[in-house]
Amino acid sequence: MSALLPGPARERLSSILHSGAHPPALLFVGPDGCGKREAARWFTRALNCHRTTSRSPSEPCSAEEAPCPACLQITAGTFPDLVTIQPEEDHPDHLTIDQVRGAIQGARLSLLTGRHKVIILARAASILLRAANALLKTLEEPPERATFILLADSHRGLPATVLSRCWIVPFAPWPESRLREDPRLGGLEPDDLRRVLSYSHGRPEKAARYARAFKAGKAKDFLREFWNAIREGGGPALQFAAKYEKPKEEFPERLQLLTDAFNAALAKSLSEKSPYSPAQWLCLTETALRAVKTLDVNANRKLLLERLIYEAREAIKPS
Ligand SMILES: [Zn+2]
Repeated sequence: MSALLPGPARERLSSILHSGAHPPALLFVGPDGCGKREAARWFTRALNCHRTTSRSPSEPCSAEEAPCPACLQITAGTFPDLVTIQPEEDHPDHLTIDQVRGAIQGARLSLLTGRHKVIILARAASILLRAANALLKTLEEPPERATFILLADSHRGLPATVLSRCWIVPFAPWPESRLREDPRLGGLEPDDLRRVLSYSHGRPEKAARYARAFKAGKAKDFLREFWNAIREGGGPALQFAAKYEKPKEEFPERLQLLTDAFNAALAKSLSEKSPYSPAQWLCLTETALRAVKTLDVNANRKLLLERLIYEAREAIKPS
C-alpha cells in the first residue's frame, strides 16, 4: 500500500509518524483523485497496525503479507476507531454543523479497539463557518489519541484560524512515468493504457478507476456508442440515452469519463492532427462539464444525455 502513496506526501507523513508528535489535525490538500483518501487510510493503519513499533512507525502491514486485524478492518472500512464524515445527499456541497459536532463528540469517546482514533472530514473546504468554529474549539484543546484529517482540493474556504492548527500535507498529480508503475494499471491493452494515462491527467485514483472500467470493457463500449450516437443523432441517440441513464451510481463516472476524454483530445489537438479543431474540442469539453454540473441538481439523467448529444453534435458541425 505505501508504494502507492505519492512520494512527497509519503515522506511528510512518515516524518510526522517518526516524530511521534501525533498532530491533532492534518490537512491533505490537492486535486481530487491524487490519493488523499488512500493516504488517510494508510496513516490510520500506521497509527493502529499491530506490527508497527516505535522503531518502524511508518511501516504498517505491506501488501505482501497477511494483514493484521487492524489493517484488515481499516482497509475494509469496518475499523471502529476510524470515522469518515462526508457531505450527505441532502447537502452535497457542504458538511453541516450537526455532522461536524457528531465528529467532535466521536473524537472525545474512548478508543474501541485501536490505539489512535482518526476522523476524516471529506470536502473540508466546504465547511460552514459555524461548523468551522466548533472544530476550531476542539483543535484548541484536542482530545488525546485522536487526529482529524481534513481532505480538501484547495485550502481556500478554510478559515485561517483552522488552517493554522493543521499540519499541511500537499498532494499533486503524478508524472506519467510513476503512474505506469501502479500495479492497478497492469494487464491493460497498450491502447487502453494510453487512454487511461491521458484521461486521468496524473490522478492515480482516477487512473485506477478508469483501468477497471477499460478492463471490464465498459469504458470502451460507452465511448464507442457515444460517438455513434453523435454521428447518427435521432433514434440511435435516443437509444443511447435510454441505455446509459442507468445504473444511477455509474452515471457521474460516465460523464466524468467524457469530460476527461474530450479534455485529453483537446490537449492532443494542439500538437497533433485531430478530426476536430481545438475550438471544437473545447466546446465538447464545456458541454460535458455543463452536464456534470447539471447532474449536481438532481437532473433527469435521460434528458441530460439527450441534451448532451444534441449540444455535442452542434459543437462539431463544420463551420
Ligand atoms: Zn497491520
